[in-house]
Amino acid sequence: MATQTMLKFVTVGREMPEKRAADERNTDFHEIYREFADAKAKEQASRCSQCGVPYCQSHCPLHNNIPDWLRLTAEGRLHEAYLRSQETSALPEICGRICPQDRLCEGNCVIEQSGHGTVTIGAIEKYINDTAWEQGWVEPIRPVAERPESVGIIGAGPAGLSAAERLRRQGFQVTIYDRHDRAGGLMIYGIPGFKLEKPVVERRTRWLEEAGVEFVLSADVGRSISFDAIRGKHDAVLIATGVYKTRDLDIDNAPERGVVAALDFLTASNRIDLGDEVPDFADGELNAEGKRVVVIGGGDTAMDCVRTAIRQGATSVKCLYRRDRANMPGSQREVQNAEEEGVEFVWLSTPAAFAGHVVGEAATASEALVDNAGGDVDGDGIGDNPKLSPRHVVTETDTSTGPVGVTGLRVTKMRLGAPDVTGRQSPEAIEGADYDEPADLVIKALGFEPEDIPRLWGVEGLEVTRWGTIRADYRTHRTSLPGVWAVGDIVRGASLVVWAIRDGREAADSIAAELGAETRVAAE
Ligand code: FAD
Ligand code: SF4
Ligand code: SF4
Repeated sequence: MATQTMLKFVTVGREMPEKRAADERNTDFHEIYREFADAKAKEQASRCSQCGVPYCQSHCPLHNNIPDWLRLTAEGRLHEAYLRSQETSALPEICGRICPQDRLCEGNCVIEQSGHGTVTIGAIEKYINDTAWEQGWVEPIRPVAERPESVGIIGAGPAGLSAAERLRRQGFQVTIYDRHDRAGGLMIYGIPGFKLEKPVVERRTRWLEEAGVEFVLSADVGRSISFDAIRGKHDAVLIATGVYKTRDLDIDNAPERGVVAALDFLTASNRIDLGDEVPDFADGELNAEGKRVVVIGGGDTAMDCVRTAIRQGATSVKCLYRRDRANMPGSQREVQNAEEEGVEFVWLSTPAAFAGHVVGEAATASEALVDNAGGDVDGDGIGDNPKLSPRHVVTETDTSTGPVGVTGLRVTKMRLGAPDVTGRQSPEAIEGADYDEPADLVIKALGFEPEDIPRLWGVEGLEVTRWGTIRADYRTHRTSLPGVWAVGDIVRGASLVVWAIRDGREAADSIAAELGAETRVAAE
């Protein structure tokens, strides 16, 4: 009798790849999950019930053929599983690592709904594609025929890379411009190595280079090279620049030292991980070692900061968030990882003022307290605390010279009040419950907004939305400027890698159609 390969969810329990112990992983920036062993990947894939209507697939932004590659993996046909997997994504092993699967594919798996625990889709996607790299199955793209038209892509993040892959497969000449010295966008300088090791990103950009994609790095559009020059050089231009304007705390006169933006902190740490010299890390400003660290915010960027600080050797790491655990925007899986690693979450708390003292030899006992004027302090993009009225700076007379360094925060305790128009409970301050929290390093992880691209680049006619994101058609990704498309976070606002990949693919097909090509991609 033939043995049933699939539908084993009743007899085989859900298992994730082994997670390294917290005391081991806290000392390095390597990924925290080990790879599945071959037998384990097969076994876990065989739990899938091969749904006729696969909700996992419809909730994956790339509509990956998940049931197919799970079945092929369970049957030991890994090369075929790989071919299926890479059809719909330029960066499948990256999504397998960092997609919030609990909100996307896995969160909608029917066997999860029936109480058996979801198929571990992300870990299997990672396993299939890591194996493909190891086995040499990932070959450079070879277009069926070269085309003369060229496309200039501004931004080498996932949106730009994904568009480049799709365009190159169709034979277009592709040049990617990026202001950084490395390609990868937030995958290289934002997301820490313990979630996504840097060589995983670098091998993908090398692969595109080998396919003939030209990278022009350290090219800051609007500064070192003009948008018009790029537009004049290419038949089509794709803007994929992400969102980088940091939301700030609404507290005036923050101390000059020791209060830093999340992305500066994470970029420095990633650069160190990549072997660069970083003066602000070497002089301690962007280094948490030996410090009491407070991170403000409740999103995934805040989670990356707290876990980075732990690995740098902070003496304590606290995360301040003005709502409670159930209402935070960050992933619960990341909160759990952070707690295991020694992070303390201080829920229902918001900073009201900084305390600081003069740094250096001339330091005196002078202290400064700077009060909160209210604002979107946790970076979840949701209203400010109306009970905190604008106040003024409170300082003692300070006759010494030198920069002021942070020594702590005044923290206001909050409670969740009545629901707002969205149904979400608004936090409100509890009178008289303020307290002082000592800190040597405060990291502001408050979210990101788009830069004012039309002004910075001197472009007329490029329409933006009221949020400052570039206005583009949601399907074709065309902007208001002829021959210019836009994708990824600069259109969506801060989002996810997987959505950036999808946008990039769709825009590539729209550009190809405009330039007269049929969307027929080269086989590997
Ligand atoms: P980006 O990745 O931001 O890339 C834009 C590129 O454009 C950059 O390389 C930039 O240098 C370049 N650029 C910008 N301006 C110019 C200019 N003027 N000239 C030339 N080049 C320019 N998403 C997930 O799915 N999972 C996660 O775990 C996750 N973790 C995250 C952690 C952090 C700390 C952050 C900040 C984000 C995280 N995200 C995560 C979100 C994800 O990284 C983004 O949604 C995604 O990278 C957006 O892709 P993009 O290509 O639109 O932009
Ligand atoms: Fe799931 Fe993301 Fe992979 Fe889609 S791309 S299958 S959402 S991990
Ligand atoms: Fe398999 Fe779950 Fe997808 Fe159904 S929803 S096809 S069980 S992974």
